[in-house]
Amino acid sequence: MAVFARMQKHDFEQIIAVNNNASRCRALVVIHDTTLGPAFGGLRFWKYATEEHGLEDVCRLARAMTYKCALAGIRGGGGKTVIFLDDRMDRAAAVRHVGRVIENLGGRYFAGRDVGCTDADMKALQQETKYVASEELSDATATGVLQGIRACLAVTRGADALDGVRIAIQGLGRVGYLLAKKSTAAGARVTASDIDEQHAHAAEHELGVSLVAPERILDEECEVFAPCALGGVVNDATAKRLKCGIVAGAANNVLEEESDGLALHERGILYAPDYVINAGALISGATRLLTGTSDSGAQIQRLFDVIREIGERSRREGMPTNYIANMMAEAKLKKSKAFSDSYWPEA
Ligand code: NAD
Repeated sequence: MAVFARMQKHDFEQIIAVNNNASRCRALVVIHDTTLGPAFGGLRFWKYATEEHGLEDVCRLARAMTYKCALAGIRGGGGKTVIFLDDRMDRAAAVRHVGRVIENLGGRYFAGRDVGCTDADMKALQQETKYVASEELSDATATGVLQGIRACLAVTRGADALDGVRIAIQGLGRVGYLLAKKSTAAGARVTASDIDEQHAHAAEHELGVSLVAPERILDEECEVFAPCALGGVVNDATAKRLKCGIVAGAANNVLEEESDGLALHERGILYAPDYVINAGALISGATRLLTGTSDSGAQIQRLFDVIREIGERSRREGMPTNYIANMMAEAKLKKSKAFSDSYWPEA
């Protein structure tokens, strides 16, 4: 699709193509919508088959960040950067080049970590720009996911207590481990899996969670299935297989297709939309950048109310939760657009 047609279709504000022959840097910095405030979005490194694939991906991700900010209650919008991986790229120089472009935006866009981004990349970026959030915020994410699980239980059972609730966690990495820790501390019975044996055994020994083989976790009978590993875990085949009442976890892009949300809805499984339930890190990072304080606990707790509202509306209106969440985000943007359309930092 041509660039302007793509921008017009979803009202993108700005697409910056970055090129530097010396470092073989090719990158796209995209700002989708700053109606509510400056854009937030991570830096992704990926080997795309074509330029078109890179443009498609960065636009989809930037737009998702706009919705995420809107529902997380952040005075911010959506952006994203992709760096096209190239074996002959001078990586540090390329990242610094992108950093200068971000610095030049003067605070219209803040970058953070995303897929493929290393500590060394963050350091290189910070050499050139102050508009970057580099902290490790998995604890905030796990706290938000736990709020989301409680909200889903409030919708399905009328009570949000975790005592005795069976939770199956896929992936015991940074977020999955902390979610297992917080859940067991709240009385839940956690079963989990990880393809990394060290991660799995650490959780078994330190937290007392029961382990199952990675290929069995989707077959676990439980109240809550919490995907904390990969995207695309709910798809045509697995939506029929799940033996849970709730799908609520940290992973991005849990649904392979938006229509998989409909399949869950038709089976009576309540799905907590990924970009809402995993917003804890965004809330924590953005609060610090926007206000200079690290006091975001209350706002992360508010994810409970947002997810409960999504779940209740889904039941009332007979519509999948992922569609309801998108509608709520769009309504919020539309309301604000009446007052201001885009964010420009003061000179
Ligand atoms: P991580 O890399 O620390 O952990 C992922 C874990 O999943 C690893 O232990 C890995 O071995 C395991 N895994 C991979 N494939 C698996 C499989 N098939 N079955 C079982 N386990 C498998 O990542 P993380 O930071 O904990 O993030 C987890 C998910 O949450 C990702 O999708 C990430 O994009 C998303 N997320 C994370 C944050 C955050 O703050 N870290 C914020 C928002 C979203």
